[in-house]
Amino acid sequence: MDLKKLLTAILFLLLFLPAYSQRMAIMGAMDQEISILVEALDKPKVTAIGGIDFYTGQLKEKKVVILKAGIGKVNAAYSTAVLTQNFNLEGLIFTGVAGGLHPEALPGDIVIGTAMVQVDFGLLDSEGFTPWNFKDLSGEPYSELLLNADSSLIQLSLQASKLAEYQLISNRKPRIFQGIISTSDLFVSDPVKADWLYSEFNSLATEMEGAAVAHVCRLLGLPFVVIRSCSDNANTDAHINFNEFVGPAAANSANLVLRMVELMPH
Ligand code: SAH
Repeated sequence: MDLKKLLTAILFLLLFLPAYSQRMAIMGAMDQEISILVEALDKPKVTAIGGIDFYTGQLKEKKVVILKAGIGKVNAAYSTAVLTQNFNLEGLIFTGVAGGLHPEALPGDIVIGTAMVQVDFGLLDSEGFTPWNFKDLSGEPYSELLLNADSSLIQLSLQASKLAEYQLISNRKPRIFQGIISTSDLFVSDPVKADWLYSEFNSLATEMEGAAVAHVCRLLGLPFVVIRSCSDNANTDAHINFNEFVGPAAANSANLVLRMVELMPH
């Protein structure tokens, strides 16, 4: 190779490699869930792809891309697919709010998802509903119902949960839970359904995106973790509680994620 070609190749790498260097993805479903993080971005840049605004920049000196996925499993899976096809990612953190199912998981509390489960995929017959394991793209079922989060990201979330600044609800310091989080395309506002999700799936909180994101991450081998703070308890008052507590709950989860990226190697 002559010198001119070599210099052109080096120039090309210098120009384009930084744009494609690895980032941590941070995703929420709603504006309230990502706003604190977007505002904390250093040197922010917005790129619109496929109807999604991707905010890139540095968060606590860590390269990140932040996006709002939209509400529900379909939006979440679409957004994860567009994200992963356009950015070079080292992992994905989902941050947001959920309905607490554990009797002591009250508004403002944190649930770190060690595994995700989709609870509206299965067989509906005269006997009722039987959940099915996820199937891969060829149609083969996975052997496990659960989608496991990345163990390093779980550990980091736990560490960060002890350091994060929280907004207190009724003067109560948030409790930190770790365990299964369930996902369906349903806003759960029924104590009987909430009990079923808790006893049948052992899930501590329920929401509308996590398992869809987790499924795409598993297909692509991308490490992920889902962090949620309770906005309500998936009971009759869920709508009222959601409107009252979505702000502080979304902030608690986002502040935990801020601490998390601070603890990550740059
Ligand atoms: N009133 C809002 C409702 C959004 S749906 C609106 O009309 O825009 C609720 C969002 O918060 C979803 O993104 C879901 O992941 C989460 N969530 C909070 N509480 C929930 C519950 N009880 N059941 C299911 N999802 C819940």
